[in-house]
Amino acid sequence: MTLQTRTVNYDNGLGEVTYTKYPQSRCIRVFVSSKGEVKVTLPTFASYEEAERFLFSVGGKMVARRQEILKRKMEQAEGGAPSEYQINKLAHKILPLRTRQMYEMMTKKVTIRNRWGMVVNDPFRYNRVAIKNNSSNWGSCSTKRNINLNMNLVKLPEELMDYVIAHELCHLVYPNHSDRFHTLLNAITDGREKTLAARLRRIKL
Ligand SMILES: [Zn+2]
Repeated sequence: MTLQTRTVNYDNGLGEVTYTKYPQSRCIRVFVSSKGEVKVTLPTFASYEEAERFLFSVGGKMVARRQEILKRKMEQAEGGAPSEYQINKLAHKILPLRTRQMYEMMTKKVTIRNRWGMVVNDPFRYNRVAIKNNSSNWGSCSTKRNINLNMNLVKLPEELMDYVIAHELCHLVYPNHSDRFHTLLNAITDGREKTLAARLRRIKL
């Protein structure tokens, strides 16, 4: 018996998702495999559109779960200091995902107004995340709203990694280190901007 399957690539952190129709299946189910891949199973009578809607309704949880599995796999594979190749590979899996999550969190958390007091629509929107291997900065962003992140961020404690990502996303609103920029970043980090910045400065890139 051949099963009907369909693969869709999502750029919202879900990655490559496989939909499989099972005759014996009675409801739509979403799970993350031990390889960190998101899988959807559905009854033959259900439509892929229906399954996709269901997937999106639980998408955030799946992204978090996927990230957790990928990170654990990396830690298990380590067994010693991870090679540059491994770090780079992990960075490609984790950093775009985490940027997406931070973007979603920040979008919900704050409202940005322009100088006329009007609400700015989607202030943290970005185009793409590029992973860099350099020793000059942890992150940067461009006027084209692209974000560059240093692959070594994945070696940092999670809150410092998040801090760097938040810093770059805030630059999409204020492309400088003005008071308003720091006020925003401080609000995003629940008043811990100075503490986190100080901790990061102590780590040599
Ligand atoms: Zn900056």
